[in-house]
Amino acid sequence: MLNTLLVIPPKYGTDFPPLGTPALAGYLKSKGSYVKQVDWNIEYCSSFESENIDRSNVNPYFHILPDKPANELPYSDDTYSSFFFTERLLSSPLLFRFINDHKENPFHRFILEKRLIDEITKLKIDILGVSIISPSQVLFSFTLGYLLKQSASGIHMVIGGQWVSLYRNEILKRNDLAAYFDSAIFFEGETPLFKLICELSNKGDLSKVPNLIYKNGSDLVLSNFRSVERPNELPEPNFDGLPLNKYKAVSDNKVSLTFETSRECYWNRCAYCVDLPHPKQGYRVKSPCLVVRDIRTLLEKYPLRELIMSDPAMSPKQMLGISKEIIKQGLMVSWWCFARPDKQFTKEVFEHAKKAGCTAVSFGLETANQRLLDFLQKGVNLETAKRVFKDCYDAGLGVDLQMMTGMPTETMEEALETIKFLVENKEIIQQVTFNVYYFTPGCLIHKDPLKYGIISQDDPLPFQFFIDFFHSKNGLSKKEALSAIRLYNIFMEKYVH
Ligand code: SF4
Repeated sequence: MLNTLLVIPPKYGTDFPPLGTPALAGYLKSKGSYVKQVDWNIEYCSSFESENIDRSNVNPYFHILPDKPANELPYSDDTYSSFFFTERLLSSPLLFRFINDHKENPFHRFILEKRLIDEITKLKIDILGVSIISPSQVLFSFTLGYLLKQSASGIHMVIGGQWVSLYRNEILKRNDLAAYFDSAIFFEGETPLFKLICELSNKGDLSKVPNLIYKNGSDLVLSNFRSVERPNELPEPNFDGLPLNKYKAVSDNKVSLTFETSRECYWNRCAYCVDLPHPKQGYRVKSPCLVVRDIRTLLEKYPLRELIMSDPAMSPKQMLGISKEIIKQGLMVSWWCFARPDKQFTKEVFEHAKKAGCTAVSFGLETANQRLLDFLQKGVNLETAKRVFKDCYDAGLGVDLQMMTGMPTETMEEALETIKFLVENKEIIQQVTFNVYYFTPGCLIHKDPLKYGIISQDDPLPFQFFIDFFHSKNGLSKKEALSAIRLYNIFMEKYVH
């Protein structure tokens, strides 16, 4: 069997390890496959963070660098890892020059200075798997793949993750990208990666590997099969090899780890949802006793502070089932999760969750205007939501809300209604995350923008994530949406204590 190294590439968040490579590592180990994982994002962010960019027009990449200040850009990133630069470079003839430019490309310098290719070669691996969640990780990954090929090591580089899933059709159109990787796995990666290892071990047929884009001569082509994972057949994630004490969410040498009890969302209909690109594979849960088996293993192996249940939305049935099982087995674990304010969430469900170590529930409400909730197919009744938040609070759990403004057709009156709701219910809300709406690919609004009152910019770039738009009907400009959020913040700071 071949040896695999899984990599978390820069640049990404450093609060806690993302679940992608630990889920794959756990699966490959359970199949008896040799696998290691490294987090080069942590190393990059701690030792290489400041990129000294020449912002004069002498810089050959000057014209595709962000033209706005960092605070007006997603994640306040105006560097070579920004969404803006990455998506423009991917559509520019300068791509190859940048990847090979050790002076301007900070990832190229990082790979050379840290001798990452030597490190990879010393590990005697056969397959390098790079998990790309965000556009900000693409240029490092492509630079690594390019330098790996230059080293003539013969190592097979496969990329995967949410970015690959979202842009699989664009990747397929770009045979030139095969200079930076050998294959790409889209959607869930467990079975495809294991099958890829098996096929490569036997010099077999890559067309048999599900969910795979691979090279056939000079073309990138799609394999013939698809796979969907069954959570009950998946082991617990494996975090071995990751620098657990270096993540920001460490406290008293205890770590926060991500964990999932289901795949995808049971509602799956919100018009703006980018949780996974369509078509989705369907909601699937892991049975409560297997969830608790996995949590027990994680508690035994790692100095666990809390588990972040990263299910897009934990269902009431799943929350109750898991809570009852944790209580029955006497497990001491602290956790929080994401959920929808659905009517089946009763005080009883929350009381069980509290007893089972749940500390907070983060609800995606987005708006407190019923017309807008219905228009965006949120499937949430505001009166029910209020009752659910109150029950959650009364059970002793933190109520966190994720809100948005500037959504298609939203008026200022409706945005003010949301602010009024948040202020009126401040006693029971622990935390609010309030964001401006962005028009992104892969969701229902993107499939039919006009239906949702959106006029997209002409010809967005193939790999563009944040797409400029106008409202064809009502709708707040980005500036107005930001003012609404500022108004809410002023209210909370000055007048509400
Ligand atoms: S509830 Fe959340 S995860 Fe589910 S469809 Fe809506 S936005 Fe997506």
